[in-house]
Amino acid sequence: MHPAAPFSQTILTGDRPTGPLHLGHYAGSLQNRVRLQDTHTQYILLADTQALTDNAHDPGKIRKNVLEVALDYLAAGIDPDRSTICVQSGLPALAELTLLYMNFVTVARLERNPTIKDEIRARGFGRDIPAGFLCYPVAQAADITGFGATLVPVGEDQLPLIEQTNEIVRRLNHQIGKPVLLEAEALVSKTGRLPGTDGKTKMSKSQGNAIPLSSSPEMLRQFVRQMYTDPNHIHVSDPGQVEGNVVFTYLDAFDPDAQAVADLKAHYRRGGLGDAVLKARLSGVLETLVGPIRERRMEISSRPGDVFDMLRDGTARARRLTQERMDVLAGALGLFRCA
Ligand code: ATP
Ligand code: MG
Repeated sequence: MHPAAPFSQTILTGDRPTGPLHLGHYAGSLQNRVRLQDTHTQYILLADTQALTDNAHDPGKIRKNVLEVALDYLAAGIDPDRSTICVQSGLPALAELTLLYMNFVTVARLERNPTIKDEIRARGFGRDIPAGFLCYPVAQAADITGFGATLVPVGEDQLPLIEQTNEIVRRLNHQIGKPVLLEAEALVSKTGRLPGTDGKTKMSKSQGNAIPLSSSPEMLRQFVRQMYTDPNHIHVSDPGQVEGNVVFTYLDAFDPDAQAVADLKAHYRRGGLGDAVLKARLSGVLETLVGPIRERRMEISSRPGDVFDMLRDGTARARRLTQERMDVLAGALGLFRCA
C-alpha cells in the first residue's frame, strides 16, 4: 500500500540508468533518500530518456540498466511502499513540459552551466554536442516541477542544475503572473562529491573510475589496492599527506568512527603509518557497508517479475501526477490544446 495522504514536502531525485549505482551515489544521495522516505513524499526517477542524451547509440544499455538501478535501489533500502520508483520514458507529460520550458532558457545560458561544461569536457564532445545533451538541464527542470518537488537530494555536482531549474520556474511564474510552479531546494550530503578511484574527477558511471554498490569482496579489495594515496609517502616512516589522499577521503565518507579516522590522520602526518594498514581498514569499512546490500540484491534479483511490477505501478502513479501538473500549467499559460 502506498501512502495516499502525502507529507507536506515532496522530493524528486533520480539517476541515469547508464550503469549500476556506485559508492558516489550512496554517499551523495542514496543514503539521504533512504532516510527521508519516512518523512517526505518521495519520487525516484529512473532517468532513461536523459541517459539517451549521451547514449543514443546504445539504447539497449540504458534499457538493461533500468532494472539494474532499480535492484540497487531496493537493495540499498528504498522501500517501494514509501517511495514511488518510476521510469522517465513512461511519463510523456515530462517531455511536453521540457518542450515548453525550452522557450524560457537561452542556449548561451545552457552553455555557461558549469556542470554541463565539465561533462562536455569529460565526454570529449568538442563542438559535436547532442542538442538533447545541452538541453538536459531543461528536462531536469521539467522532472522536478512535474512532480511539484520542493526538495532534491543530489550530489554536489548537481547544484548548478537546481539553480537552472529555479531560474526557469521564476521566468514561467513571471510570465503567468502568479506562482504556479514551486522553487526547489537542493539537499547535499556531507560528503558532497566523492572522487573516483583515480582521485582526479568525481566518481562516475561513465568514467570507469567507480566502485559499484554490487561489488564482490574481492572487487572491493582490488579497488582499494589500486587507490591513489600520497606519491611522496614511500617508506612507512615518511610523513604522509592526508589532503587529496583518496583513502582518507573514503574513510571520511564511510568510516562510522570519526575519532579513529582523526587519530589515523595524525599518525599518517607524523609518519610511521603504512598505506597497507590504511587500505586494510578501508576494505573492512567498505565491506561492512556493501555486504548487506550485495546480499539483498542477490535475493531480490531472483524475482525480476516483482521488480517489473513495482516499476509498472510506480510509473502509472507518476504518470497521473505529472499529467495533472502539465494540465494545470497549460491552463495557466492559456495553451489552446482543443481540450
Ligand atoms: P553518469 O556518468 O552516467 O552521468 P553518474 O555516476 O554521474 O552517471 P548520475 O546518474 O548522473 O550518476 O547521478 C545520480 C545522482 O548521484 C546525482 O544526484 C548525482 O549528484 C549523484 N552522484 C553521482 N556521482 C556522485 C559522486 N561521485 N559523488 C556524489 N554524488 C554523486
Ligand atoms: Mg552524471
